[in-house]
Amino acid sequence: METWRLLDTGARSAAENMALDETLLELKAAGRIPHTLRFLQFSRSTVLVGHHQSVEEEVRLDYCRAQGIEINRRLTGGGALYWGRKELGWEIYISKKDRRIPSRIEDLYRRMGEAASSGLRHLGIRAYFRPRNDIEIQGRKISGTGGTELSGAILFQGTVLVDFDVDEMLRALRIPTEKLQDKEIESVKERVTCLNWELGRTPAIRTIKAALAKGFEEAFGVRFQDKALTEEEETELKSKLPYFSSNDYIYKIRNSLPRRKTLSSILKAPGGLIRISLAIDSKARVISQILITGDFFAYPKRAIFNLESLLKNSKASPSSIEGIIRSFFSDQKPRIPGITGDHFVQALDEALQKMHLLPKGFNEEETHHLFPVLKPFKEVRKPDVLLLPYCAKEVECDYRNLQGCQECGRCTVGDAVQMARSFGMDSVTIQNYEELESTLRHLNVSGVRAFIGSCCEPFYGKHRPDFERIGLPGILIDVAQSTCYDLGEEKKAFKGQFENQTHLNLSLLKRVLEYCHG
Ligand code: SF4
Ligand code: SF4
Repeated sequence: METWRLLDTGARSAAENMALDETLLELKAAGRIPHTLRFLQFSRSTVLVGHHQSVEEEVRLDYCRAQGIEINRRLTGGGALYWGRKELGWEIYISKKDRRIPSRIEDLYRRMGEAASSGLRHLGIRAYFRPRNDIEIQGRKISGTGGTELSGAILFQGTVLVDFDVDEMLRALRIPTEKLQDKEIESVKERVTCLNWELGRTPAIRTIKAALAKGFEEAFGVRFQDKALTEEEETELKSKLPYFSSNDYIYKIRNSLPRRKTLSSILKAPGGLIRISLAIDSKARVISQILITGDFFAYPKRAIFNLESLLKNSKASPSSIEGIIRSFFSDQKPRIPGITGDHFVQALDEALQKMHLLPKGFNEEETHHLFPVLKPFKEVRKPDVLLLPYCAKEVECDYRNLQGCQECGRCTVGDAVQMARSFGMDSVTIQNYEELESTLRHLNVSGVRAFIGSCCEPFYGKHRPDFERIGLPGILIDVAQSTCYDLGEEKKAFKGQFENQTHLNLSLLKRVLEYCHG
């Protein structure tokens, strides 16, 4: 029977683990190492952002620094992950042309996910692969998977949550709550599980490794043989380590562009969240800088960098951008599961639309806090209604959970109500998600032209498809202060029971009302 290498590299630093990923992938691509299953752990708690993500957007940096949580960047795409010291990683290094490797990305995910989940079942748990890339036990995720490729070699990897600290994960990551809606869940905690919770004990790490190895042996019809890193691998690892430990690798590759000089947009596609940040040279009307980040997977790994370089210095017009994106997809044939050229066109278009706001008195920083609903900003004319979230009302106010406001001046809601009245608009307080949906439906059938509303960015990201489904165009303005998502209280907020107070951005609201009624 064919033999593959079993490589157990033990608990190492984040930089060593990432440097080893690149070392092994490159040596596999060069045909210098056998097919390999690697097991890895982290010597300290670690946050790993996906290859296309910005650390600043995904990680609570101050918290991680204070707690000594390491931060690094994966070679693979996907979302940010928190790894406790007990969690276990597995990786397969294999040639793309191996007969057991499917050519379609979706089939590769399934093949690897089913192998790992059948291994986990040897531990006595009912783990099953769930497309696109998770392994779940009765709807709760115990493992995420993903991969990348280089010159004919594949690195496919996954995590196994062994004894997971969900609270620490919530504190370390800026949880991408926009992702949750697809999975129809209200709370992150209800969506994950780990071996300890399933079995009521933590199995010995060697038992978990043996179970996983058995799953891969059965799935691929091979036997594993324990082997250590070769001398060549050790040398390569040593030479790569400084780079994988550097801020240049961890932060600066995807360093955010300065917000005060850029236009941005956020779009949730089936394959992940796309964030666009671009700087425009307004004289030449060209895109001078562009950053595309998100938790999607892209093959090859350079695909997104290639798209960014094609868009950089191109004309800042929707037709030019659409042409570039379409040729990029047809010429380079990147594989980005769940994301099409149309998604990139839409996301870029929405960032570009903000250009029209600049000559109207908005600055770039303000445009980050404006979100379009259904129509471009310039087409939202003469809105009739202002929708206000209950969370902006003073916590002690008698009107907190009621319609109305006495405009007593103790919170921003009173000023907003006055402002709306001066533009001939009604104000409605939204108490919970159901009420938002029924209010928008009612307004839509009552002949209302458009609405202006205020909510937080995570709420917009999550409910954007709902707003679009209802069909009333509008503009949403971000609220200030800690949102229920920041505080992990979105479940309470959904029912109208969030107890913190947010603040409306009154100066931006005034500018939006003047713009739409001008
Ligand atoms: S301004 Fe309105 S909502 Fe705010 S505290 Fe006064 S009455 Fe309550
Ligand atoms: S902070 Fe919570 S309650 Fe307030 S708008 Fe956002 S989702 Fe709604």
